[in-house]
Amino acid sequence: MNPKPLPTLFFPGTYRFVAGGILDGRPIGGGPPARELLARISGNGIEILEVGPAVAGVYPSVELPGCVLTPGLVNAHCHLDLTHIGPLPLSERGFSGFVDEVRARRHTDPPAIHASVEAGVSLSRSGGVVAVGDICGAVRGGADLEAFSALARSGMLGVGFLEFFAMGDSTDRALGRLEAAWAGATGNGRMSVGLQPHAPYSVCRKGYRRAAALAGARGAILATHVAESPAEHEFVGSAAGPQRALLETLGLWNDGLLGEFGLHKTPLEQIADLFDEGQKVLLVHLNDISDEDLKRLERLNERVELSVAYCPRASDYFRTAESFGPHRYREMTKAGINVCLGTDSIINLPEAEVCGEAGRICPADDAAHLARRDGADPLGLLAMMTSCGARALGLRSDEFEFRPGATLAGICVVRPHGPAIADERGVDLWARALLKGFEIALVDRGGRVRNGAVLA
Ligand SMILES: [Zn+2]
Repeated sequence: MNPKPLPTLFFPGTYRFVAGGILDGRPIGGGPPARELLARISGNGIEILEVGPAVAGVYPSVELPGCVLTPGLVNAHCHLDLTHIGPLPLSERGFSGFVDEVRARRHTDPPAIHASVEAGVSLSRSGGVVAVGDICGAVRGGADLEAFSALARSGMLGVGFLEFFAMGDSTDRALGRLEAAWAGATGNGRMSVGLQPHAPYSVCRKGYRRAAALAGARGAILATHVAESPAEHEFVGSAAGPQRALLETLGLWNDGLLGEFGLHKTPLEQIADLFDEGQKVLLVHLNDISDEDLKRLERLNERVELSVAYCPRASDYFRTAESFGPHRYREMTKAGINVCLGTDSIINLPEAEVCGEAGRICPADDAAHLARRDGADPLGLLAMMTSCGARALGLRSDEFEFRPGATLAGICVVRPHGPAIADERGVDLWARALLKGFEIALVDRGGRVRNGAVLA
């Protein structure tokens, strides 16, 4: 039996949710599985009163048979200001062609930037997302506040990272522009501001150092793309390849850069010594990780507050495993590193998922990709896009778990595709959702429901 569609709004009050399973990223204990949740919905959030096999008291009941409830999701790495571009096939020139495409198609006028971010926020909500680590892209190569201001107004939780490039002769100009933007950037109670030096092939070591100092002085998080593509490996290690050619074309290359590129370092090695003790660092991608890099990452994890955002569908879109082998996210998790999930930009997502009426930008689709591709643990995947993602963005991870007393920003209702299976419960239901596909609805703080109709 399918559940009824959810109402479009839950009025403030206490509700009893009854579902096939109530799961967060924590391991399941030995007791009977949780199937009922008592929650008080208000403008401040969804306060968890009780969770268990059955809850006490008489309250309005919301019956969701065959569905799983999870905390609202965290997308730890996205580019919502590129939403207007939509999905694209991979360029014949691979990663370099992609970078050119983004440069050519990125909006530069404020109303268009705002509209793109708002469209991305809407698709994210349709994907059950309540918190994002969003890259607020550099405009004409320089740090810019427009995407951040749209994001800060959206009501999303998380961090908007101001992106910048700084290389060769442009470095001082770029850092001047960064400092001006940074001085004017203030978050609000829900959205914080962070910094994103773009990548080790587009920001020189001086640029990383300045960003680390600026972020550190405010206790802000520093994110960066790193170890993403063969072109990056070649440029950092050998000062050659398409990135060198691009810098020459842009007039940004000078031979002084041979003092820091072409020293046979790996991309991670290029930047790992530039962070300060205790700094909050979010490294994105890490497709290109040698055994030595894995040890380097473990050492870095002891020195800074480190998280890693893995974007599986983006990595596979660029076919990075063909160059670097399978991604090492499970080894990183095993080594005690906080690994979370991101979708990266809409450009690398499948058209069927992000377009049309049921379109969504949803990290659970990345989790599903890992469940199918690698047989990854369903609960571990849930942790990666709830509590681990929250930790990476400086949010309270216990507010992405169904703990009595916690106030959540949202609750997802997930219905697996396919006919209902009698007595299927809890983690089995969740595993089927990942393997077979799913619909997802979101009840957010304030009781607004996104996509309630898709459950029926
Ligand atoms: Zn990215």
